Amino acid sequence: MFEFYNDDQKMIRTVVRELVKKEIAPHAAEWDEEDRCPKELVKVFGELGFLGVFVSPEYGGAGLGITERAIILEEVARHSAGFAMTLMTHDLCTAAIYNFGTEEQKKEWLPKLCSGEIIGGLSVTEPTGGSDLMNHATTIEKTDDGFVLNGRKVFITNSHIANLNIWTGKIGVNEKGRNILSAILIPPGTEGYSAGRKEHKLGLRGSVTGDTIAKDVKLGPDAIIGKEGKGAGVALHTIGNFGRSGMSAIALGVIKGSLEEAIKFGKERIIYGKPLVKIPAIQEMIAENQIEYEAASAMLYNATTVYDRGEDAVARLAAVKYFATEAAIRSSRRTMDLMGGYGVINEYPVGRFLRDAVTNIPSGGTSQIMKIIVAGNALK
Ligand SMILES: Cc1cc2nc3c(=O)[nH]c(=O)nc-3n(C[C@H](O)[C@H](O)[C@H](O)COP(=O)(O)OP(=O)(O)OC[C@H]3O[C@@H](n4cnc5c(N)ncnc54)[C@H](O)[C@@H]3O)c2cc1C
Repeated sequence: MFEFYNDDQKMIRTVVRELVKKEIAPHAAEWDEEDRCPKELVKVFGELGFLGVFVSPEYGGAGLGITERAIILEEVARHSAGFAMTLMTHDLCTAAIYNFGTEEQKKEWLPKLCSGEIIGGLSVTEPTGGSDLMNHATTIEKTDDGFVLNGRKVFITNSHIANLNIWTGKIGVNEKGRNILSAILIPPGTEGYSAGRKEHKLGLRGSVTGDTIAKDVKLGPDAIIGKEGKGAGVALHTIGNFGRSGMSAIALGVIKGSLEEAIKFGKERIIYGKPLVKIPAIQEMIAENQIEYEAASAMLYNATTVYDRGEDAVARLAAVKYFATEAAIRSSRRTMDLMGGYGVINEYPVGRFLRDAVTNIPSGGTSQIMKIIVAGNALK
């Protein structure tokens, strides 16, 4: 387990844990059952300073890092991985503007995103395949007045609740015939922009996932995020650092939940006239969950600390994303097994943990893609 939290980080964990206990834990099962995203809570997190914590105070943030953000997401995901996903993705929009936006874009949007006054989304994935990032059908056409955006995005978190959206689209092709992408910002209420089909997901049901659609969306000349033609870099940096650390933190919360539920159930359940945890095979399962938590925690907070120090952390975060999200599946499945028949009864949260863990895998890039990134770095 990571043991080197500073005083601020310890305090944030304590405050968020209390908030989650009051506002999230009692409702998480109901949000899952009803497939409801409690979007009203985004503002509560904003008012307490827990959105965009990595943004500097001049733009409304807390001036902290992705380590503090991961601590917040882990605590939320301990009880509702779905709602953590909503917060996680909101911050992707914030991160793209913070890291690549112009001074005007930062001043206009970051305070509203950090306070939760508006909700953000990031639309990159297309029907042609999320792993094949450059294969975009979405077009950004240059006009005399700015740009016109046309396309459809799939599997987009916050699709139906985000007011501020960042899209990637094809703005041209290079001399080798390969697509050149730009990232572009779509302000609230823009004509021609809409949410389409809403997905009925296996897990992460405290978040909304669906299509986003742009039909002849007219945007001004100042709508591009980052340099024109550098949209792939905006997407890769945002997903590679903020997306994967966020998904890993959500997975870590699920592992923690699975560990704690296993211990609680194992102590309460009496079998052969004694608590279940007296059986060595059951102790082994608890040990395995504890080990998964310690390993994932150490990997995640080590990698986020590297990023917060200003060093490159993309390959480390891909390794964490692979390990933590796969470990969350193993841990929740193990707790289900430990509980016997009770493990499949929906009164207990562990079935939801397993569904959340499985649903966690594709977002931010699949396990296969994470291994390609890790191998690419190892073989450099
Ligand atoms: C809950 C959820 C939330 C999401 N939120 C967002 C969001 O907010 N914004 C957004 O833009 N996207 C979002 N996504 C999309 C996500 O990024 C994609 O699902 C992911 O990138 C995979 O793309 P795909 O689903 O098209 O699968 P594909 O890319 O079609 O992959 C299919 C299979 O092929 C494998 N594969 C692909 N290429 C290779 C290769 N080179 N080598 C080996 N195997 C390979 C994959 O690992 C996978 O097993 C979300 C997805 C989910 C499930």
